[in-house]
Amino acid sequence: MEESFDKDIVTAVRRFVERDVIPTASDLEHADEYPHALVATMKELGLFGCTIPQEHGGLGLSFLSYARVMEELSRGWMSLAGVINSHLIMAFIITHHGTPDQKKYFLQAMARGEKRGGLALTEPHAGSDVQSLKTIAKKKGDDYILTGSKMFITNARHGTMLAVAAKTDPTAKPAYAGISMFAVEKSDAGPTVSRNLKKLGYKGIDTCEVLFEDVPVPTTHLIGGGEGLGFKQVMSALEVGRINVAARAVGVGQAALENALRYAQQRTAFGKPIWQHQAVQLLLADMATNIEAARLMVHNAARKKDAGERCDIEAGRHARRPRSMRCGYSAATASWRNFRSRDSIATPR
Ligand SMILES: Cc1cc2nc3c(=O)[nH]c(=O)nc-3n(C[C@H](O)[C@H](O)[C@H](O)COP(=O)(O)OP(=O)(O)OC[C@H]3O[C@@H](n4cnc5c(N)ncnc54)[C@H](O)[C@@H]3O)c2cc1C
Repeated sequence: MEESFDKDIVTAVRRFVERDVIPTASDLEHADEYPHALVATMKELGLFGCTIPQEHGGLGLSFLSYARVMEELSRGWMSLAGVINSHLIMAFIITHHGTPDQKKYFLQAMARGEKRGGLALTEPHAGSDVQSLKTIAKKKGDDYILTGSKMFITNARHGTMLAVAAKTDPTAKPAYAGISMFAVEKSDAGPTVSRNLKKLGYKGIDTCEVLFEDVPVPTTHLIGGGEGLGFKQVMSALEVGRINVAARAVGVGQAALENALRYAQQRTAFGKPIWQHQAVQLLLADMATNIEAARLMVHNAARKKDAGERCDIEAGRHARRPRSMRCGYSAATASWRNFRSRDSIATPR
């Protein structure tokens, strides 16, 4: 029953991608335009609640099904998977580490896409080395006052709130023990989304610099209600993000393969469609093999997350190791080969 429900969602997303995304993605990407209409349909489809449990109003999909949904979205346009990604990272933190009141306050609205989240972890001088972040949260009465700056924050401009990592004890040893997570809703008091960052590709979606200049956050929005728990909370949620990002690579590779197949059937050279030349057949077979291998690696990571196991190595491996690089290479090869045929292919991406 659950499996057929999940399958229906994947099918519905595929239809949405074919009907609405593929015809518009190229224009939105090149114009670097936020896809408001597509996001509205994603809300209707319930995608903002993909992995939020049904008891909190979400679809309650397994991470395996989530990976398949993100692959389908990215097959049309990778930026759409980004709109969902850090929103569901935040939802995961609240689902697994939030207080009962926090779950009640945030999750239903997040599942409907009314409250739209993001993750504010990275700082100008602190990326992989999360422990070295400098944003400070000082308790003052019923609030924490947040001061610092965050970099590369996806969904900061079009979202309504952020899960923010800040140090409640900057002197803690080890340093990670001083990090806490806050659910910060945007208001007149801040934070300030100071600028959108320019990107080469992955456009349309907002990736921003965010400033916290003495921003008050109610103590009730300290996630989990205790200080110093943030590092562990965010690390388990980053695995959800890695599954999303790895599934994107598979979706982009799949789209490239499909375009390459179409082109190979349309283009003729030396009297026949180029797919009939054995060298081209070998290339296409190589692409299909690499993409399928990458897909299985992502599914393996997702199954581990579903079983409650760590999957950082499995999901991260996909993004960094040779197989995935070959998948990326295949996509690049296909894109290059398609370059000349852009006008002749019905669905350019
Ligand atoms: C488009 C985009 C969107 C993003 N969205 C978000 C977001 O929504 N929220 C958020 O918080 N962050 C976001 N990020 C930030 C992203 O998570 C960071 O870029 C990432 O954590 C890496 O940090 P860094 O770029 O500072 O690189 P660094 O940590 O400075 O790393 C630089 C290089 O050194 C390597 N390196 C670092 N440490 C080691 C080590 N111990 N051993 C070997 N090699 C090492 C890295 O692999 C990398 O190649 C986004 C980034 C991009 C580009």
